[in-house]
Amino acid sequence: MRHMHLLVVILAAAAASLCAAPEQRAIWAHFPDIKSPEAVQRTVDAMSAARLNAIYILVWYDGGLAAYRSALSPMMAGAPEGHDPLGALIAAAHARGIHVHAWFANGSYGWKQPGHVFTVHPEWQLDDGSSGPERWYDLGQPAVREFERDVMLDCLANYDVDGIHFDYIRYDGRGVCHCETCEQEVERRSGIPRATSDGSTFPLACEMSGNPLDKPTTAQVLATFDNRVPALTLNALGTGEAVLLNWHASDTPHAAVSAFARQMLERFGAAGAKVYQLRNTETTVRYGPGSQDSGVRWLEGLGCEPAAIDEAHLADVPPGATVVLHNQYLISPAAAAWLEEFVTAGGHALFVDGPVFAIKEPALQRVIGLAGTGEYFNEFRAVIPAEGQELIKPGPPVDLDVEKRRAAAWEQFRRDSVTDLVRQVYAGAKALKPEAQVSAAVFYDRRSADSVCQDWYGWLREGIIDYVLPMAYVDGLPPLEKAIDEWKAFDPTLERIIPGLSIYRQEGDQTVSRDAASVLAQQELCRSSGARGTCYFSLEFLSPEIQAALAGGPYAEIAEPYYPGGR
Ligand SMILES: [Zn+2]
Repeated sequence: MRHMHLLVVILAAAAASLCAAPEQRAIWAHFPDIKSPEAVQRTVDAMSAARLNAIYILVWYDGGLAAYRSALSPMMAGAPEGHDPLGALIAAAHARGIHVHAWFANGSYGWKQPGHVFTVHPEWQLDDGSSGPERWYDLGQPAVREFERDVMLDCLANYDVDGIHFDYIRYDGRGVCHCETCEQEVERRSGIPRATSDGSTFPLACEMSGNPLDKPTTAQVLATFDNRVPALTLNALGTGEAVLLNWHASDTPHAAVSAFARQMLERFGAAGAKVYQLRNTETTVRYGPGSQDSGVRWLEGLGCEPAAIDEAHLADVPPGATVVLHNQYLISPAAAAWLEEFVTAGGHALFVDGPVFAIKEPALQRVIGLAGTGEYFNEFRAVIPAEGQELIKPGPPVDLDVEKRRAAAWEQFRRDSVTDLVRQVYAGAKALKPEAQVSAAVFYDRRSADSVCQDWYGWLREGIIDYVLPMAYVDGLPPLEKAIDEWKAFDPTLERIIPGLSIYRQEGDQTVSRDAASVLAQQELCRSSGARGTCYFSLEFLSPEIQAALAGGPYAEIAEPYYPGGR
């Protein structure tokens, strides 16, 4: 009898070693990963090979198309007749013990053309006067939120998913929407009559940030910030010119900024034409290749064709062309000397958030016509046309205090609108299937989340989301460690925060899989910090090497996916 007991204890111990504590071993995946029965098979095979136990599959994007059968959304194009992508994934995944979460893109429209939803409801598009080609849903309209809620709950009702997942559950930034519904609501809440200026003229007052240059020498100051630091300058050198937008102007979605940039591009003969976006190696190394993406989108939004160029290929830039330096803080002395020669000989340069580190180069000072730096700022500022200049026609004056209060009201309205959608979906989902998880992919640091009105700390506090997956797509361990510290200050045991990690990296223009060692190192850091899992972005980068490393390493013992307990 004694021996029998011992045997039971030994068997129980052996079983436990094969089955670790619940842990979420998850991955994000896209429509091509489930488009056909063969793709579904490949997906579950790859996940099994890596011993992953949960998949977040993008099922609603691309202008309101779905990767499942729905009366509310047409099916995404390309699935063979009779194939139900989500349905097939659920069957294949559940057969292998893999959980399936349906992933929805809420704010971003995902289609540059009107597509499905904006053809039926053109009035549902956010009208924030931004010049970019990206379209966004106007989450400020109750009808839009109700529609998205219905889309998500309809999927949950009709499919045996283990959860539903928000993404782009945010705006593209701070700002306003000029539609009647939003204008009226903000007016009603704040008691401030709507703006007489629509943002298409200077003075312009809004939240902005920048690393300004200062100490004009030869530059003509076209506009200043309200603290008198130059905001827009134009400098003539030889037969060429250089213009400076002295802050992160590409992040200021106001028509006045786009109009000024277009005016300068026209002056340079570069409107609608090819421009050369200079990417200095030192800047790219320090700030990452992705640091130029917003510049590319901005230039495309202005109607240009940006072509990336590095210092080694400056000789390829034709005389008289336009070179754009967007967030180029470090510029080599050789590139500065080339710029001086290029502009002097009739070339054009457009700087956005100027070269604060490189401005000590005398050649660069002569190009821009400013000789020093101001102080970094991130606050509510006005851009005011300077007296005596004629390039910018001033619009109606603005009262900075009123504008500040108005902007705060808009920000609160935007945050409330996003939160209201989360709240409605959560309540609906729990009424429908209490066991289903409701989660969201979110910006990983609070400041960035705030800047897009994504109050995920507030959602967790209020209990209207089961857990969040902050997208900490960072290189190496120190930035991840910093992020984990920030999360722990809010959720000390990481009960409701599952880190999102990238398994891709940039290699020149290519996006490739990370090496397995760096994936394991980040996974290990998360686990040893107490995280109950990790979610990887994304399946297409899950190389055989990473699969083998995960399955043979941290995931050697199988585990059920972790979910936080009920509230
Ligand atoms: Zn609106």
